[in-house]
Amino acid sequence: MRKKVVAGNWKCNTTVQEGVELAKAVNQLVAAKGPEDVVVVLGAPFTHITKVVESVDGARVGVAAQNCAAEASGAYTGEVSASMVKSTGAQYVILGHSERREYYGETSEILNKKVALTLENGLTPIYCCGEALEIREAGTQKEYVINQLEETIFNLSADDFKKVIIAYEPIWAIGTGKTASTEQAQEMHKDIREAIAAKYGAEVAEEISILYGGSCKPSNAPELFANPDVDGGLIGGASLKAEDFIGIITAY
Ligand code: PGA
Repeated sequence: MRKKVVAGNWKCNTTVQEGVELAKAVNQLVAAKGPEDVVVVLGAPFTHITKVVESVDGARVGVAAQNCAAEASGAYTGEVSASMVKSTGAQYVILGHSERREYYGETSEILNKKVALTLENGLTPIYCCGEALEIREAGTQKEYVINQLEETIFNLSADDFKKVIIAYEPIWAIGTGKTASTEQAQEMHKDIREAIAAKYGAEVAEEISILYGGSCKPSNAPELFANPDVDGGLIGGASLKAEDFIGIITAY
């Protein structure tokens, strides 16, 4: 059975102190009412990670970095490597988020290196894909998203591929308050799973968790998560309030 995952993406928000408070609050709520079978992940800024790891029960709440360097180590001022992330106790790295692709020029070539380093260091990539509004309006979203996967994670061995979590995030739904309809989400998730099955076989496709992201909140999460191919969510805005986040975690 594939895992249900609810991952928060705090983006460039909170001070270290606020992040620790948020992590502690989520940790308490998860201990009190988080379903045992839902994997909870907090996507914290690099500066916060060590303290966030210390503030949660690692058996119930995992921690993700929101990026890592495309190089293993060396003269790359300002970069944070996958091995550094690993040494904090974090277990996940969010990669390929549309904001990184758009504002920081992350190409498939760069993402290939980041995915490989993440896996080499025993971290789980939460790999984001998703189309812009123009592509959705042109009706070519399926080809676009599958192409993103083909250029990056579809070159992994089956053993490595099985370690990846995919997050489908239509760009037009991120931070806009406009969520994909439950039908739109299910359709794309099914298309992604079928593409995985064609590449790696049905058994692998059944094992991969595919999360939905884009204006997911406690009110729409139950409907989104009820879809057979939606295995959880990557949550931006609503992960910044512990009460909202637990509302999503308990939405299955
Ligand atoms: P949002 O962001 O939930 O604020 O729309 C999701 C994301 O960018 O991961």
